[in-house]
Amino acid sequence: MTQPTDLVVSAPAPVLIPVTSGGRWPVRRIYCVGRNYEEHAKEMGFTGREPPFFFMKPADAVLYVPEGSVGEMPYPPGTSNLHYEIELVAAIGTGGSNIKAADAMKHVWGYAVGLDMTRRDLQNEAKKQGRPWEIGKGFDASAPIGPIVPAAKAGNPSDATISLAVNGSVKQTSTTAKLIWNIAETIEHLSSYWRLEPGDLIFTGTPEGVGAVVKGDLMEGAVSGVGQLKVRMI
Ligand code: MN
Repeated sequence: MTQPTDLVVSAPAPVLIPVTSGGRWPVRRIYCVGRNYEEHAKEMGFTGREPPFFFMKPADAVLYVPEGSVGEMPYPPGTSNLHYEIELVAAIGTGGSNIKAADAMKHVWGYAVGLDMTRRDLQNEAKKQGRPWEIGKGFDASAPIGPIVPAAKAGNPSDATISLAVNGSVKQTSTTAKLIWNIAETIEHLSSYWRLEPGDLIFTGTPEGVGAVVKGDLMEGAVSGVGQLKVRMI
């Protein structure tokens, strides 16, 4: 690719995530689904099946962690209630608008294990004030993620065990079969509001059991068939 020579400041580096079968994944946008497991919706004070809703993290919020190693996430500023949310991530390989659920899985290139790290105190304050969530959700290194696994090698991500342990104690465990809006339905809704493009990532939501971590804590997340994600707070 030809680099432009007339940039007046240095261009940001592309955000690239290694793929387990080789090559790297260029991250375009990171979409996240809110409250997409019933028991998590309840623990956040909501009930029932509401239409899916979305927020975003910046692409450069990615903190890539190779499988088998322990990533290090600096405890972010401005919070005293940093929460983990383990999530299955779907990686969009083929873009489109108004994608129907029946066709949606053809648009998924692969999957990853991700953490939607959340400054819960700041998010709660934003909710209370009717303000946007960015300060609670879109901060630096707020999206730890493992390698992208091609769909054909990812087992059955529509019925996979999803779990997270902190310091060896299991905090979250569920199955992706309990997603209120499954991956196909999520893509249908999402693509009716934004045109999806190759490189987009979708954090599909977290099951119940969210909680806080502090400096020194080790988070060990997993989605069966997709992989493991280990991150220590520093
Ligand atoms: Mn989440």
